[in-house]
Amino acid sequence: MKKWEIAVIPGDGIGKEVVPAALDVLQAVADVHGGIAFSFIEFSWSCDYYVEHGQMMPDDGLSTLRNFDAIFLGAVGNPKLVPDHISLWGLLLKIRREFEQVINIRPAKYFRGLSSPLAEPRDFDFIVVRENSEGEYSEVGGRIHRGDDEIAIQNAVFTRKGTERAMRYAFELARKRKGHVTSATKSNGIFHTMPFWDEVFADVKRDYPDVATASYHIDALAAFFVTRPHTFDVVVASNLFGDILTDLGGAIMGSIGIAPAANINVNGNYPSMFEPVHGSAPDIYGKGIANPIGQIWTAKLMLDHFGEEELGALLLRVVEDVTADGVKTPDLGGTAATKEVAAEICRRLREHA
Ligand code: ATP
Ligand code: MG
Repeated sequence: MKKWEIAVIPGDGIGKEVVPAALDVLQAVADVHGGIAFSFIEFSWSCDYYVEHGQMMPDDGLSTLRNFDAIFLGAVGNPKLVPDHISLWGLLLKIRREFEQVINIRPAKYFRGLSSPLAEPRDFDFIVVRENSEGEYSEVGGRIHRGDDEIAIQNAVFTRKGTERAMRYAFELARKRKGHVTSATKSNGIFHTMPFWDEVFADVKRDYPDVATASYHIDALAAFFVTRPHTFDVVVASNLFGDILTDLGGAIMGSIGIAPAANINVNGNYPSMFEPVHGSAPDIYGKGIANPIGQIWTAKLMLDHFGEEELGALLLRVVEDVTADGVKTPDLGGTAATKEVAAEICRRLREHA
């Protein structure tokens, strides 16, 4: 029996509601399979923890997490208690950086039973692979005064290693999917980094003759996400472009409450971290109506990461069936509570046992 050790950090706000729901679902998945088990060790690191201890996590927090197979996180942030930059850097970004989680992946797919804002929602199903460690989000640059003028300069930093790593991840992923990679570029306007990006893409592509490719400028690509999202499979993008595209991907699905994400350590030397796109949603916390699907779909990404892709696919199919049958939280136009959605998913999963 394979046993996966998972560090669980529910965090703040609705993280404390959707994480338990997703753990119930993971337990049901294990029951269905029979050959795997999960051990969940929970950590209360959060803004409440900060109020008590003056830090988001203990000094030995990172070394505690290091030996887990994965980190399963809800949401972090409670601006009423702790300024966002402290909660972010004190936990999330610290983990991402220390554990070299250099890739961020965010799937988007048309969900039956969900009203997409697209006029004619087609059956789209794609994943954005975002470079998560460098690029436009660099600390290189500064401000200068020249005469009575003021100048701000921001440099983007693209290494061959980092760029190639993101692209290889995208190509490998495409091989397991529909065999197509789209590159997000802007080499007609950005003079140094984007031609370099294109060059690395062409180099990596040579190693994957079986994978089809396309390359679009980011402005056109963003428009295509709206006009023909069904034509994409895997999209690889720099840090900034990926950031923008993944929010757009979430938007065309219909609710931020269902969007999943993963921060991947590609070398496997540290755990990867799985957290939904949405935040702690203080406006609805405590009402029991948070949509648990983002967290549950995030659990599916964790299953995929463990190599349990068949189980992951089954889980997502069941989630979509439940949504299509109208068992939905209020953000999707339904009346079900967080717990009711999770219980229905568990019940249907167990039917497959
Ligand atoms: P944070 O700073 O933690 O990211 P935020 O308020 O900026 O928090 P979200 O927490 O993502 O951003 O919330 C944005 C909006 O979406 C809120 O109105 C929230 O209620 C809603 N929302 C987010 N997640 C869910 C969910 N799982 N179910 C239902 N509504 C949600
Ligand atoms: Mg937010």
